[in-house]
Amino acid sequence: MRRVAVLGATGSIGTSALDVIGRHPDRLRAEVLVAGRNAEALVGLCRTHRPAHAAIADEAAYAALRDGLRAAGLDTEAHAGMDAIDALAADAATDTVVAAIVGAAGLSSTLAAARAGKRLLLANKESLVLAGDLLMRAVREHGADIVPIDSEHNAIFQCLPDAHARDGLKRIQLTASGGPFRGRSRAELANVTPAQAVAHPKWSMGPKISVDSATLMNKGLEVIEAHHLFDLPSDRIGVLVHPQSLVHSLVEFVDGSTLAQLGLPDMRTALAVGFAWPERIASGVAGLDLLAQGRLDFEAPDLDAFPCLRLAYAALDAGGCATAVLNAANEEAVSAFLQGRIAFLSIPALVEDALHRMPHDQADSLEALLAADAATRASVRDAITREAAP
Ligand code: NAD
Ligand code: MG
Repeated sequence: MRRVAVLGATGSIGTSALDVIGRHPDRLRAEVLVAGRNAEALVGLCRTHRPAHAAIADEAAYAALRDGLRAAGLDTEAHAGMDAIDALAADAATDTVVAAIVGAAGLSSTLAAARAGKRLLLANKESLVLAGDLLMRAVREHGADIVPIDSEHNAIFQCLPDAHARDGLKRIQLTASGGPFRGRSRAELANVTPAQAVAHPKWSMGPKISVDSATLMNKGLEVIEAHHLFDLPSDRIGVLVHPQSLVHSLVEFVDGSTLAQLGLPDMRTALAVGFAWPERIASGVAGLDLLAQGRLDFEAPDLDAFPCLRLAYAALDAGGCATAVLNAANEEAVSAFLQGRIAFLSIPALVEDALHRMPHDQADSLEALLAADAATRASVRDAITREAAP
């Protein structure tokens, strides 16, 4: 029996994880559920899954969580605050952690799970972008077992199951849907709205990653994620736009072979792989009918209209704190865009500006990375306030 902590349980990935868990009461049990601030939604999930512990990041929501659990007649223990979440991520009551908090807010609990040697189903890609070297070192030193829960990286994981295969590895290619604005020129992106940006053509996801998909920053974050997960330099990580989102990524070997993993765009497949690997379990996702799908198209990404992808490669090559700066600037810019405070094209402009202005010092400690993250956020918020002022 895998005893699972789902961090970010009320989100898109968290909900999919609980769906898969609910299909396998004989082998999976949700022991810990964690959310950001919506106590009511968390209590609702507790009614269904009856975990031993439920935690909410927002301490002001503690009473609502505790009282809601009591009113529902549950003996789930209520907790609040980031320290409590980190402690639950490391707690011996679970052996498996789904890291699906959005943004840098997920770093400390992800690190705590890695240091506790858990099987880590890692959806929170921002923690690798912010502190990939430290996180991967913690995974190695503490014997954690990491399964990527990003469709592309999960595909590569499935195609590269053992170390022998890696000897002959030439390069990987991440596929990208191209997002809702694929095919538009830069000029045609000037006035797009948050509602248009989050309407992804193929995947149903949370608002932050949906905007990242629209700017192609998501693919940039994924290049950095792949660098850390698979220990590859940036020039061996390519990006291929594939609008059908059925080929989830490709691995090319020195002998001319290319392996790919295909499937419908539904994260429950990756999550089922993460829970059961090296076994396979049902996920609720139907098999792929290529005749019904008809065709698979591929094209090169447009780096002029979508400069965020280029900026991510540049940050990865710059090293040091640069990817922490990239991530922090992007999180602040995306949040301001979603609030209607800045234009879509201001997202790459703010990120590029931050990469130029902020120092790229060595990133040998968590403190240095968190300091770069905090300084970048403060500076980008200032720039946003100036831009949003009438
Ligand atoms: P979402 O916005 O739907 O859900 C985010 C979850 O995090 C919610 O449960 C929210 O309550 C919780 N949360 C937010 N701030 C928190 C905090 N400070 N402390 C504790 N919990 C907090 O996001 P999502 O789409 O599920 O994405 C989650 C992560 O998975 C992101 O890093 C994203 O990049 C990654 N990811 C998502 C998908 C997808 O299909 N949705 C695919 C690949 C990777
Ligand atoms: Mg992805």
